[in-house]
Amino acid sequence: MVKNSNYKIGLYIRVSSEEQAENPEGSIKSQEQRLREAVNFRNRQYGFGEIVDVYIDAGISAKNMKRPKLQEMLMDIKMKKINLIMMTELSRLSRSMSDFIQIWEILTTNKCSFMSLREDFDTTTSAGEMLLFNIVNFNQFERKQTSERVSANLLARAKRGLYNGGSVPLGFKLIQDRPGFLDIDEETAPTVKKAFEKFLEIGTLSRTAKWLNDNGYKPKLSREGGGSKMRVGHFTVDNLYHLLKNKAYIGVKVFSVKDKVEEAPAVWEAIIDETTFKRVNEELAKNKSRLKPISENRHPYILSGVSFCMTCGDHMPGKSATGRSGKVAYYEHSWATKRDSCLTKKTFKCNPHRVLAKKVEPLVWNEFTKLLTNEQFIKNLLEKVTAIHRDNDDHKERERLKAKQYGLNSQIDALAERIGILPREISPTPLFKQLEKIQNAKKEVDEKLNTLKDVNIDDRLVPLKTFQKFAEYSKFILNENPDFNVRRKILQKFVRRVEIGPDSVKIYWNVDKEFYSNEVIISSNNKEPSQAKACDPCKAEKNVRNVGSNSFTNGALRGTPEGIISLKSLV
Ligand SMILES: [Zn+2]
Repeated sequence: MVKNSNYKIGLYIRVSSEEQAENPEGSIKSQEQRLREAVNFRNRQYGFGEIVDVYIDAGISAKNMKRPKLQEMLMDIKMKKINLIMMTELSRLSRSMSDFIQIWEILTTNKCSFMSLREDFDTTTSAGEMLLFNIVNFNQFERKQTSERVSANLLARAKRGLYNGGSVPLGFKLIQDRPGFLDIDEETAPTVKKAFEKFLEIGTLSRTAKWLNDNGYKPKLSREGGGSKMRVGHFTVDNLYHLLKNKAYIGVKVFSVKDKVEEAPAVWEAIIDETTFKRVNEELAKNKSRLKPISENRHPYILSGVSFCMTCGDHMPGKSATGRSGKVAYYEHSWATKRDSCLTKKTFKCNPHRVLAKKVEPLVWNEFTKLLTNEQFIKNLLEKVTAIHRDNDDHKERERLKAKQYGLNSQIDALAERIGILPREISPTPLFKQLEKIQNAKKEVDEKLNTLKDVNIDDRLVPLKTFQKFAEYSKFILNENPDFNVRRKILQKFVRRVEIGPDSVKIYWNVDKEFYSNEVIISSNNKEPSQAKACDPCKAEKNVRNVGSNSFTNGALRGTPEGIISLKSLV
């Protein structure tokens, strides 16, 4: 039992997808009700605390930490918004020991207490803490047991050298009525033999693959024994590599026990003799430096998936090209690279057909950091939200303004009439002055009415709380100077779309269902670094077509990309 008082409480609620299917809402409501009752009960006795937020992960398993609301709660703990988390039972929070240790560390370093109704822990004593860890361990044990029973069976079979399901390697086929046994497939086995033979002769994967493809040796498209993916219909560096590494061809069953790889003599016959296999694999090991998987030193394209061409709308994925100083990362039209492979002379329908990642990425990141502190942006958002929340008041206000407008109109009519019948000897100037005054007042009322109408047409809601939270989290993350992978993750959340044009980059920001856009124009003459542009998608295209120069592709961006140019909501 927690005995301190005045806690800032976060309630954590999770329902699995099964629970949700059986009784949607029900489990959430009952968990929340139980937690609220527990808080109220304690509050009746002493000043226990106040519920700050309720975090609900619906239809999500606790097998890992990839739960949006759990992450949000942990962030709130780090930001000291809450200092006690409550749940109905521990398994709602975590089912894995390693996850729980992570959560526990966050709790202790941030002096956040912990309370689970079912287990009723006192986390202030080490005995209670130990008990807690034991229970988490037990939860994990329970879950593991089932999968262990299955894998124990599989392991026993593997040790006997039996085939355990999954895709049957090329060159083999299943034997009817003898599960776990494989036969040599006379149709495809020669292809496997040829692959080993030719690799020893040619020496490189790419040229061996090419030779096999050119001479009619092809992997079968269908995979026997499952495997959801079809094979590629030809040899590639990748599939050839895996084929040559596969010990099934020398009659060895490879399996892993607790991350350790073990081998057993297989129940099937070998296709390749051991000497050939050994020589091939020695050669492969020598070539390994040339075989580095792309992911190892791959540029972390932070705009991956959201980068598009402003002119044609094509997706511009991250690509790398080899330049004089090594690999250079670009964002490039997907058709450009497709054509690259079959055309020597390239034709491009768009200019630029690619942009340097190191130019465009900092630009977007910079805009993002600015966005978080951009007063105009926050102001726009605030205005929208208050306008909508004020909807009822607006109605009254409109009625009031309409009445005023009516009054002013009749005043104008009356004055005009009086000026019309004014005797010649009396100067009309004072009346004209008064008329002007009333007309100005009317103009003001008209304008107010118009803006009111605009707001009412616009019934889109920006949940400000969500945005503020988002912005706060992000500033918190920014302070920790995130690396590119973290930046990518943040931008993937924040950015809906980045359109890359010859002279500008237009960024569409995600703010819940609402989105905002801004455009950064790269000036070519340093005079006006930026200029406001309408954010209408149709207009944007026209604008781009009018711009002739191409400061993006010829090296450095001239001029500093300045500020947020226009922030206008898109309809
Ligand atoms: Zn294009």
